[in-house]
Order: sequence, then structure tokens, then C-alpha cells
Amino acid sequence: MENKTVFEKRDAVCKECGCIISETFIPFINKWVTDKCECQKLKERQERAITETNKRLFTIRDYKRQSGIEPRYKTASFDNFIPAEQTKKALRTARLYAEKFTEAEKNGTGLIFTGNTGSGKTHLACAIANTLLENGIQVKFITYSYLLQTINSANDYGVTEGETIRSLQKARLLIIDDIAAQNASEKGRSVMFSILDKRINNLKPTIFTSNVTSLEELKTRFNEQIYDRIKGSCYKIELLCESHRNL
Ligand SMILES: [Zn+2]
Repeated sequence: MENKTVFEKRDAVCKECGCIISETFIPFINKWVTDKCECQKLKERQERAITETNKRLFTIRDYKRQSGIEPRYKTASFDNFIPAEQTKKALRTARLYAEKFTEAEKNGTGLIFTGNTGSGKTHLACAIANTLLENGIQVKFITYSYLLQTINSANDYGVTEGETIRSLQKARLLIIDDIAAQNASEKGRSVMFSILDKRINNLKPTIFTSNVTSLEELKTRFNEQIYDRIKGSCYKIELLCESHRNL
């Protein structure tokens, strides 16, 4: 065994790129070890970046798959929303909300889109969802009627009512489409309250769409408590116009 007392260095040639690098003598293993060449460091950085990108793409793909957004709204964006004169402001506000979502998230501010059936409420809500999903933010979308149906049939799929509600309570952004289409049942009120209360207490934003003309109607469709929570945590965006679907 060579008995060197200092960590010696000598020149070597990188097998990959042919440039001069150094080797260090490691006494305790009695070996010359080649230092990492810049080309190898670059390769490692690139590999790490690819791993990160792939992880991110997998996450985005999973979030999209589990989002619950219906096929017809999967491609909804701000660019393919054709606003009427009266809905331009709604479009601007919705776009701004998506851009500044992390700010809105700090105090759990959500939105409530109101307007006629076909005015574009769901399109704008889904445009927000699709934009956020593209940025790796988890969004869950559910229509109010489907929520009730899911809760009622939860046990048929081996999923408990509690699990369904918990997944909606936990989502980073939740969209509940078409609330208050008619007066809610006792079950509807209690499910809505338990989702909302938990989300608001945890500063998690929720977006609603509804064809009510005034938020006051939520008092009769649901109750005072639910009305208070929606009014207190959501910014209202009104879409006043003729139905898009008839245009
Ligand atoms: Zn090299």
C-alpha cells in the first residue's frame, strides 16, 4: 500500500468529453478517484430536471384525471370563451382570479358565478380549473346534483359518504356547479354545510355557479348558515346576458 500522508492530486482525462480533470488520491481506500467533470455535472443536473419535470407531468395528469371535469368542459379556456358585451367583465375577473389564485388562497377567497343557464358560468369556472390544473394545482369539480347522487350511492361503490365528503373538503380548489337549482333537501343542506364549513375554516377556496338572480335566494334554497358562508367567502361574478347556447 502506498503510504501517502497528503491528499495528492494529478491530472487525468475525462472519458466522456476528453478534457483535463483531476484525480485525487484517497489514502484510506488506497485509490486514485477521478473528480467529477463539468460534463458529468451537467448531465446529472439535466437528469434531475427531467425527473422533476416528469414528476410534475405525472401529478398534472393525475389531477386532471381525478378532477371530475366533464368532457365538454375539459378544453374550456379563457381564450375560447366568447364573451357578450355584458360578460367581458366576468371574463376579465375570472382570468385574474386564475392568475392570482395563490393570493386568493391566502384568505380562502372563492367565487360565485351567477347568471342564466347557458350564460357561460360553468365555462368560466372550468377555464379557471383547467388553468390551475396546468400549473399543478389540484382542483375538484362536481355538480351539486351529482354530489347528492354520489352521496346517496356512496355505499354501492364501497366508498363511504364520509370519504366522498372528505375528498371534497380537502381539494385545494373545489368547484360546485349549479347549486340552488331548486330547494335543497335536508340531506343536501347538511352535506353542503359540512363541506363548506370545513373548507372555510381551513381557508380553502370554493367556486360556485348558480342561476339565482340574488344571493338572498340561497337563504330559501339552503338556509341562513349556508348563505352566510357563501356570501362571506366568495366574490360574486354576475353574467347577465342571453343564453350562449341559443346564439
Ligand atoms: Zn467531461
